[in-house]
Amino acid sequence: MESHTSNKGTDLLGLHDMTSKDYYADSYAHFGIHEEMLKDSVRTGSYRHAIVDNSHLFKGKTVLDVGCGTGILSMFAAKAGASHVVGIDMSNIIDQAQKIIEANGFKDTITLVKGKLEEAELPIQQFDIIISEWMGYFLLYESMLDTVLLARDRYLKPGGLLFPDNATIYLAAIEDQDYKEEKINFWDNVYGFDYSCIKDIALREPLVDTVDLKSVVTHPYLIKQIDLTTAKKEDLTFEAPFTLTATRNDYVHAFLAWFDISFKCTHKGVKFSTGPHAQYTHWKQTVFYTPSTIKVSESDTINGKLTCAPNARNNRDLDITISYETEGERPVTMSYKM
Ligand code: SAH
Repeated sequence: MESHTSNKGTDLLGLHDMTSKDYYADSYAHFGIHEEMLKDSVRTGSYRHAIVDNSHLFKGKTVLDVGCGTGILSMFAAKAGASHVVGIDMSNIIDQAQKIIEANGFKDTITLVKGKLEEAELPIQQFDIIISEWMGYFLLYESMLDTVLLARDRYLKPGGLLFPDNATIYLAAIEDQDYKEEKINFWDNVYGFDYSCIKDIALREPLVDTVDLKSVVTHPYLIKQIDLTTAKKEDLTFEAPFTLTATRNDYVHAFLAWFDISFKCTHKGVKFSTGPHAQYTHWKQTVFYTPSTIKVSESDTINGKLTCAPNARNNRDLDITISYETEGERPVTMSYKM
């Protein structure tokens, strides 16, 4: 999934009548966002691999595609031999998906439903498999995982399969002097003026960007594992202790988070990572700048705790805090909002 403002619906408009205001309310309606997701070959290729190369799991089965967008995952499932696929999406992009499935000969195998999963009536009540690409930045930002969990509880047969069925979030620490200078300390002196009030705001906003593996100065630490077959909505509010062990003498300017996704139920356990060691994805990584620089020597540890909760006023936003302590230094707690 891409991460953007959610849809308010523009049902009365044909897609060619949409203005930028309508696209703002229904950010998934424009093809550009789908272009970026489809061209993310790690993302789309992993789903194809998990679905099409596991036709023994799909043959003759009913499949629900939650947030079908342009219908790509529905068509993978149909290709893999599903007896029937239902794709649901609340964005006007589904009008294009309908044309796409017809153009590709899937009119009889795939049924598309326009609407919010939470409110929609589906033509089939119980499915063998649910497929969905629901992930946002930092896995959970503007994520629709709660929608997928609801779909599981309402529509998945006992023992049915979820694609994907596992997600993990990792944390590490990075050296990032130059970029922190450019993005954060920039506000200390803007053409000679003191803009430092913005520095505090900038520091609290996690930065989505690609990070060079060479910048990572600790071992990664698994902070959160989500088993989609059993997870509950409450599990998306969590507190995770961590211990980051330095791999060399260096300075730390930020924490770095990324996630891995796996399809454990497949024959070979298809998986992909969005980490700095892995091939580029549109999710990049997420950088949390620390208020001050931390000096670490090889095998030193940074001990701390990350908390994550949906924002009270907008539950697709996240409130994240990171508390940490290094030997001989005072403990620090920073709160972030994304
Ligand atoms: N499955 C497509 C699109 C993924 S993007 C692909 O892999 O390319 C996620 C899609 O989910 C968006 O098109 C968005 O409109 C839709 N979506 C998000 N929340 C939804 C909800 N609650 N009900 C229905 N659709 C939803």
